[in-house]
Amino acid sequence: MTGAALPLDDRDGVVWVDGALVPWRAARLHVLSHGLHYGGSVFEGERVYDGRVFALHDHSARLVASARHLGYELPWTADEIDAVTCEVVAAAGLTDGYVRPVAWRGADTLRLVAPDSRVHLAVAAWPWPRIFTDGPRGIRLGTSRWRRPAPDTAPIRAKAAALYAIGALAGQEAEAAGFDDALLLDHRGRLAEATGANLFLVRGGELHTPPPECVLDGITRRTVIGLARGLGLPVVERHLAPAALDHADEVFLTGTAYEVQPVTGIDDRTYPLGEVGAALTEAYARAVRAGADERAARPAPAAASSDAG
Ligand code: PMP
Repeated sequence: MTGAALPLDDRDGVVWVDGALVPWRAARLHVLSHGLHYGGSVFEGERVYDGRVFALHDHSARLVASARHLGYELPWTADEIDAVTCEVVAAAGLTDGYVRPVAWRGADTLRLVAPDSRVHLAVAAWPWPRIFTDGPRGIRLGTSRWRRPAPDTAPIRAKAAALYAIGALAGQEAEAAGFDDALLLDHRGRLAEATGANLFLVRGGELHTPPPECVLDGITRRTVIGLARGLGLPVVERHLAPAALDHADEVFLTGTAYEVQPVTGIDDRTYPLGEVGAALTEAYARAVRAGADERAARPAPAAASSDAG
């Protein structure tokens, strides 16, 4: 992944913090904030296309739900967060870009158990290009020794900072080994996801993807499942053993930042830039700019089947 051109704390513009737009450089928090010490902050990553945040309400609702998984309630509803986000995007004058809402417990106490701590919310938006490249270049993943934890070990349904400590470890080791990103297995050794994206394997014209049990229930994942079904491609949500990688015709990742990202290598395996990935890349690029219709086409997550390779 490429880093930001300018440090994130030294830019012009405004950030929305706790109810008001403040100058970008003034959007600071106290060093004794609970969220900084104990990993309990929750966040979203959203993309602006043609001046509108794709799947905005889904993201705001997931933020509220993530906070609940961490045991706190945001003092704003998902509808209010939608409105704030639109305000921030408009203030930034963004046509295409990225939005980062983040919520955390503040600097009221460093007791681990802090039910009365104030909860803060900030929303920032800025121009941000594609995460890897501008073309259909495939990326290479290295399987990580770090795993996605079990649902009774960590709040894996939440988009919580704590979980990204694992992703950061996996990602930095993968990059040091010359890969573009890491592929994490879950606690049982089944295929899980990349550091910031869901995994899809294509085999015989069918899509196979792990159920959202130990992986984030990605909004892009849901969108792409809907698009694939619309294109007549069957989608099977099932547990996948790593051996499934040996039999995949194509592999791709989905995520707000990654969009539909073809994978051309995992460890020493290689995959082509295939037709299914290309068709879904195109369908997704249309959907994110098409507006509201696409949301109706998105299915509810399907129930998972049992373990299988
Ligand atoms: N998994 C992880 C760990 C992620 O961080 C993300 C990015 N939010 C995804 C999957 C994809 O989720 P979404 O499509 O909602 O961006």
